[in-house]
Amino acid sequence: MRPSTSPAADSQEQGNATFALMCSDLRKHYDQGPAVIDVLRGIELTLERGERLAIVGSSGSGKSTLLNLIGGLDTPDQGEVRLLGKPFSSCGDNQRGKLRNQHLGFVYQFHHLLGEFTALENVAMPQLIAGVSKRQALEEAAVWLGRVGLSERVEHKPAELSGGERQRVAIARALVNKPACVLMDEPTGNLDRQTADSIQSLLAELSDSLSTSFIIVTHDERLARSMDRVLVLQDGLLQPQTDGISKTASQEAGVEVNNG
Ligand code: ADP
Ligand code: MG
Repeated sequence: MRPSTSPAADSQEQGNATFALMCSDLRKHYDQGPAVIDVLRGIELTLERGERLAIVGSSGSGKSTLLNLIGGLDTPDQGEVRLLGKPFSSCGDNQRGKLRNQHLGFVYQFHHLLGEFTALENVAMPQLIAGVSKRQALEEAAVWLGRVGLSERVEHKPAELSGGERQRVAIARALVNKPACVLMDEPTGNLDRQTADSIQSLLAELSDSLSTSFIIVTHDERLARSMDRVLVLQDGLLQPQTDGISKTASQEAGVEVNNG
């Protein structure tokens, strides 16, 4: 369905990699005055094609730091992230940007849509960056807005949309280039329960019909449980979840409610 600049090259590149994403021995620290915060202490992660992973953990445990490394937005002190078998560390800035544009999608707690552009133009943006013609990009964007249930809102600007609708636009934008993996940082963190549930259903429906992998960082217990696998980020390491999501995480979910 995606008009691509080089579909053959894309599928060959994707076809050669066994896993969507691999992290090995990822380490990251921050200097806070004289103190050193070891946020990530050797993250190991393998994400299969099409797998849906939730990462939970208390506030400040390093979830956003990890997603930023996985998304190539920041560089680790040590260790490596491989996207479709290709290590980010071997890429220059241009190539890294291209990898991100082609193979990754991003959704954040706050939609990060461009306020002066319509929903349609916002969703078309990653296609335009990929070099697709404007006409094709807008057509493809319209298809994706339809898939997220927003056919009636294509000409609306972000300020004219509800919180849930803005997140739907952000999801359409994250998926429009058919990435290997979508990274979401608290995608329902700013939504009321009902709107969050509708976003969860949408993600389930989309991921069932796509071969895209998802990594969702969330305090939303229901959303986490709807994924294939849940890992907990604690003490700088990813661990399998044993006894449900921590109290802290559930409590935080309870207070992070706002407009829908
Ligand atoms: P989470 O997303 O799990 O809430 P973060 O990844 O945002 O956690 O932050 C992890 C820790 O690293 C926190 O203690 C935070 O204060 C610290 N931190 C994050 N970014 C920076 C930065 N740019 N400089 C210094 N410390 C940072
Ligand atoms: Mg965070």
